Amino acid sequence: MLLSIGRWSSRVLTTKAWRPVCVARAVLYRHISRHSFQNNQDLDVPPQTAQHTSAQDVGILDLPALDSKWQREWQTGSPSWQGEGMPMKYHSTPDKMYILPMFPYPSGDLHLGHLRVYTISDVLSRFRRLQGYQVVHPIGWDAFGLPAENAAIERGINPAVWTKQNIQKMKKQLEAMNGAWDWDREFATCDPAFYKHTQRLFLLLHEKGLAYQSEAMVNYDPVDKTVLANEQVDANGCSWRSGAKVEKKLLKQWFFKISEFREELLKDLELLSEGGAWPDNVLTMQKHWIGKSTGARIKFEISSWGDYDINIGHRYYDFNHDLEVFTTRPDTLHGVQYIALAPNHPIVLEVAKDQPELQFFLKSIPNLPTDSKAGHEIKFSWARNPLHREASCEKAKNERLPIFVAPYVLGDYGEGAVMGVPGHDIRDYDFWKHNRPADPIKTVVEPLKSGAPVTVPFIHKGKLTSACGDIAGMESDKASTVLLDYLQTVNLGAQAETWRLRDWLISRQRYWGTPIPIIHCASCGPVAVPGDQLPVELPDVNQHWAEGRSGNPLESAHDWIKTKCPKCHSPAKRDTDTMDTFVDSSWYFMRFIDARNDEELFSPKLAEEMLPVDLYVGGIEHAILHLLYARFISKFVARSKLWRSKNNGEPFKRVLTQGMVHGQTYSDPVTGRFLKPGEVDVSVPSRPVMISNGATPQISFEKMSKSKCNGVDPGACIAKYGADATRAHILFQAPVGDVLEWDESKISGVTRWLRKIYKLIQHRQDVFEATGDSLYYQHSNFQPVLHQLAQWDRSLRAKIVTGYSPVDNTGQWLTMALTEKGVSGQSFVTSPLNQRQNQRLWQQVQKTIISVTQSYGETASLNTVVSDLMSMTKAIMEHSSLYTPDSVDRSTLRVSWEALKVLVQMMAPITPAFSEECWMLLHRNFKPPNQNRQWKSDDMGKIYSEYNYMFDPTTIHNIEDQTAEEKKPARVKSIFTFSFPTYDGSLEAFAKGATTTSKTCAVQVNGKLRFAIDLEFPVDLEGEELKEWLVKTLPDTELGTEKLTGRWGIENASKIIVVGGGRTVNLVIPAS
Ligand SMILES: [Zn+2]
Repeated sequence: MLLSIGRWSSRVLTTKAWRPVCVARAVLYRHISRHSFQNNQDLDVPPQTAQHTSAQDVGILDLPALDSKWQREWQTGSPSWQGEGMPMKYHSTPDKMYILPMFPYPSGDLHLGHLRVYTISDVLSRFRRLQGYQVVHPIGWDAFGLPAENAAIERGINPAVWTKQNIQKMKKQLEAMNGAWDWDREFATCDPAFYKHTQRLFLLLHEKGLAYQSEAMVNYDPVDKTVLANEQVDANGCSWRSGAKVEKKLLKQWFFKISEFREELLKDLELLSEGGAWPDNVLTMQKHWIGKSTGARIKFEISSWGDYDINIGHRYYDFNHDLEVFTTRPDTLHGVQYIALAPNHPIVLEVAKDQPELQFFLKSIPNLPTDSKAGHEIKFSWARNPLHREASCEKAKNERLPIFVAPYVLGDYGEGAVMGVPGHDIRDYDFWKHNRPADPIKTVVEPLKSGAPVTVPFIHKGKLTSACGDIAGMESDKASTVLLDYLQTVNLGAQAETWRLRDWLISRQRYWGTPIPIIHCASCGPVAVPGDQLPVELPDVNQHWAEGRSGNPLESAHDWIKTKCPKCHSPAKRDTDTMDTFVDSSWYFMRFIDARNDEELFSPKLAEEMLPVDLYVGGIEHAILHLLYARFISKFVARSKLWRSKNNGEPFKRVLTQGMVHGQTYSDPVTGRFLKPGEVDVSVPSRPVMISNGATPQISFEKMSKSKCNGVDPGACIAKYGADATRAHILFQAPVGDVLEWDESKISGVTRWLRKIYKLIQHRQDVFEATGDSLYYQHSNFQPVLHQLAQWDRSLRAKIVTGYSPVDNTGQWLTMALTEKGVSGQSFVTSPLNQRQNQRLWQQVQKTIISVTQSYGETASLNTVVSDLMSMTKAIMEHSSLYTPDSVDRSTLRVSWEALKVLVQMMAPITPAFSEECWMLLHRNFKPPNQNRQWKSDDMGKIYSEYNYMFDPTTIHNIEDQTAEEKKPARVKSIFTFSFPTYDGSLEAFAKGATTTSKTCAVQVNGKLRFAIDLEFPVDLEGEELKEWLVKTLPDTELGTEKLTGRWGIENASKIIVVGGGRTVNLVIPAS
């Protein structure tokens, strides 16, 4: 396909991207172009055709139209447009970079939170791509799960159909936001081609004994009718999904043995904390969740004493064993006042059989508030402190510790039994005060410093009190050791650790998930489905949806359940559970590297090359569950031959968590009721008005939700403002990790910024084209030379572009430089006009390159990137006043072009379509150098032919081969085929070569400011020399001649004080 700027322009005209507004300028423009046309012929440069003489060049920026134009171009353009096979010139690291946003659940609507994550990951992956990395930036769908199943029941359609429709919708939205996604890696976890491998993964775990079935007291969600993992039950005992109060049930379930990896999962958090690779709060949450505590296991003797009850006579329980508790504070053992058991502790369940009051209490527990201090003392039973077993003192020996059932004790922590030490634990204290308000509280540890006030409970370590017999006065840690040593010798205690992390319950009694690939045989037990029979596909249960039934449809899919045992071939049944969807997301990132592999989860070779994920972007809400499961599965896979990991099987090198998006929320100031969009008039964004009564509504920013009527449709926003402005706005409004308060009215700031840049480029190009032949010549032949120079010495290029001139003129210098490199150069004359302003702008450009590169690459402070680029725009604008069609010099124009080019390149990751458009505009006059003429076969020719890489090869032609109407300029390649700007070293180079430095000097007389003036100070002056120079220079300046005359003449000063290297000069002039 042949594309040329000529054709291109005519296509541009047909889009909405340009709207002619200024006919007068267009006429002027045509005149200028003709002028340059004639002169170009004399210069043996391909003549400019008149393709850009129409009014299109002066237009209003239509950002949504640019989106569609460039999206079309990216999809259909020739390979050079898509950035394939691009000769990146300044690659520092030609390396892979795997950047991944957490994949979405296909709900059907992309919300603003999504848009934020995907904007961040897209921007960072585009940046890395521009830096020369081989970037992998895939997207897929976390497509199993309850919402689809619930929607299916509601609408009577198959969840697969519903899910596919949603994926189609969201895919369009992801394209509309100008994202560059690796669509060839896309998959949905509900595709049998994907879940075949999830089943494989299950069987790998099963083979190693890490997937097992066990009867367990489980969390059951009565609304969603499914079992939940502990992690899916919130602090109030409610389901994370349905919000229903979770019930406890004893069921046979499948588990993954994550506990086998707990040491590694804990230890490697250190690895992830290096260099701030993972956010601190995520690490802390994971550490807490894994929850390793070290302490001791201590045995308490329990007995029942044959007490007499008038109704039931003597009661005696044969407990037959000691009760074991876990404590992190053995030093407080003397202070134990009771024992508390979890409601599901075996002793409680046993005793409850014939204690109706206890049964009653157990039934009441689900209705108690979460922080309840309620307890129930178990009758006829008591415990004895192990320290008192062989006590010589009868009183101690006979001390009975009451045993309570206490809901605050968790059944799954330690042994579901704790020793109650009210004097030294807050929860124990509260419990004791509630249940035994009249009883005293024992204090057995006191502060180390005698006389320090003792608070009760005293929860810190200290020294033991006189209540502790012969170890009184001993420090806590020492006392713990001594007590444990003793208990160990009498076999009543031992050092121990406990973990909060339980095995991962993955069974779900639902349809829309990966079927568990197990067959249950009466004689062989559970048998793995053989590999060649995978996937075990979900059966059609359309009747179930049509009738809107609840429960697990798989349990009634009898034809599907009935199968043969793979071992003995007798009739057997399929497992009807499906896997928790967290199983899908625990390994999907590995599948992306080899998404079409039918044989294996992925190829080990690709794994070695592409894993782990270099940057993972997602919400903080996944800090525990998803990230922990992914680490577990990844570590498991790294133990197999599938992945030879170099970083302990950690899946994500770096994690970036983005903050939530809060919506502008209107409510009635009187009633507090949330107002719907239709109830508020926002035609004047700064002054919203309630339509019903004209009052001003209350405005706040809150988490977006239907009930608060504050949701925002990102699609509508993109359609209105364009994807680029929306992306820039999202990034600019808040640091990546902070809450983003979505205020649509503020987007106009970003839009204004883009318009400014667009205008600036047009202005610069207009002036450039108005200058005629000499600058055209420079453009065509100078750019390739600059390009070559950049590879020899980047700062040299800077000096030449800005008009820096250490010898008579830069042209001579350049010629010398070229000759030195063995190239027969031309003379490139550069005028020193505006030299200082040019250098100043160049320096700001270089500083911005440094800071922006750091912000993109190291700190991901993308809001800073936008603000830095805005400041740079301002500087270019100020500089642009230096040139007009009537007054111009080539250095000034060159610098402005370089600055605009760098600006647009640095913006490209954030505003891809806009930057492409600007890039085209900036290269409007570019053409490949005329290779067939005088440069042929010498070094300059080589430079020029290399320079051709900038152009779409299908648009480059030998001039002589072209007919007159074919003489069209070549088309420059996509901005994404060029590498990200790098700092050229010129800051140091300029500083070194500088002989003067500019400063503002405040001139005071008797301490009062007389005037301030910008001066060029010689760099090496100080002290007396500096003062002499100022005395000589100041009166000769324009302001000096005016302000330092007569009475105020500098010669009248009795004293001259110079401060700050000349920033302030104070003249002391005595009153005459
Ligand atoms: Zn069998």
